Amino acid sequence: MAESEHTASETVAQRVDADDTLSLLQDLVRIPSPYFEEEEIVEFVHDWLDEAGLDPEYHRVEEPDITGYEGRNVLARLEGSDPDAPTLLLNAHVDTVKIVDAWEEDPFSGRIEDGKLYGQGACDMKGGLAAVLVAFRILAEAVDAGDLDLAGDLLLTAVVDEEGPYGLGTDRLLRDGLLDDVDAAVVTEPGPILAQSDVSNPALILGARGRFLYDMEIRGRAAHGSQPHKGINAVVDAGRVAETLDGLDVDSHEKLGDGSVCPIKVEGGSQTLSVPERARLMVDRHVVPGESREVVREQAEAAVEALDLDSEVAVGFRESPDPGIKYGPYVTDPDHALVGSLEGATRRVTGVAPETAYFASVGDFNYLGDPDRGNLPTVILGPDGENIHSAGEFVYTDEVVEVTEILVEAAADLLGE
Ligand SMILES: [Zn+2]
Repeated sequence: MAESEHTASETVAQRVDADDTLSLLQDLVRIPSPYFEEEEIVEFVHDWLDEAGLDPEYHRVEEPDITGYEGRNVLARLEGSDPDAPTLLLNAHVDTVKIVDAWEEDPFSGRIEDGKLYGQGACDMKGGLAAVLVAFRILAEAVDAGDLDLAGDLLLTAVVDEEGPYGLGTDRLLRDGLLDDVDAAVVTEPGPILAQSDVSNPALILGARGRFLYDMEIRGRAAHGSQPHKGINAVVDAGRVAETLDGLDVDSHEKLGDGSVCPIKVEGGSQTLSVPERARLMVDRHVVPGESREVVREQAEAAVEALDLDSEVAVGFRESPDPGIKYGPYVTDPDHALVGSLEGATRRVTGVAPETAYFASVGDFNYLGDPDRGNLPTVILGPDGENIHSAGEFVYTDEVVEVTEILVEAAADLLGE
């Protein structure tokens, strides 16, 4: 857009066009992109940025050992005038969960009805992806037109494989040093729907619990099934361990709330007339700061020890491409300049102050916020909806537009001269 099309009193955020934004979102939803199958949407995002003159680049993501995955992130950077000014990251994932069977309509329709846009991934998180793309373009256009001066850089990362097993896209950004100059991050995941407390948009999510997944191998001793006293029943002992873990006392955190333990899978048994000698229990463990992998292991081992079982029990953590890949908990300082910019922007765009909350589960934002990894002040701000990861998923269209406007306003404030 040329400068002359805009009035002097218009803010840059007012240049966000709702129809444009939602039309882009429909395009994104119409491209199926379950994790590990993102090539088409990655090219679409790249070409969309390229056609807008925003010089996108591909970034290779490979994980040969466990998944055999090969994919590409898309990056674009808007350079500010002052190398010492802060760099803000806008991060969104392009993938969705695997397509859910229960859809009663085309899961890629992008149909809009009653202010809801439907499709697999519409809320998690193509709504947020459309928001960062449009916000980035509007800011770039405003700078180009001489209507806005940015001192700091704005970095856009559209990443692959967030929904997959290891968050490989954002992991690779960190590993390859592409976020080394970043000072703060916004991830436009849907926030309130997965918050620890009951909030609604506009909301800033200022932290998240972390997560470990571990296995317990329970080894008993086989015997004839008619004489169970001669063996050690691994299945029965697995049940005891599961029950104990279910009631385990874990740490809590003033902001992130309680850690949690959830035995999520049990397998075991052998032949039809034998005391089972092996069982395996898989445990989901959401953690708060202070609950490291070692702490989690020690807690589980102590709980087993106290049971004084005849079976032998070993705790193991799931196979990972690298020990550094972990979803650590983090809390963002509410007094950080990014939070201030987002609060002010939210007030100006919506007329109300945002609520604040903390995320219940994990995602790429953990990699960014975890003091052991990205160590970045990281805020989740994204359009909400319903039925994420399931059939009938939708995102609220007005929130997609609102988040786009808040991003523009906040970036202009934080990075402005
Ligand atoms: Zn997501």
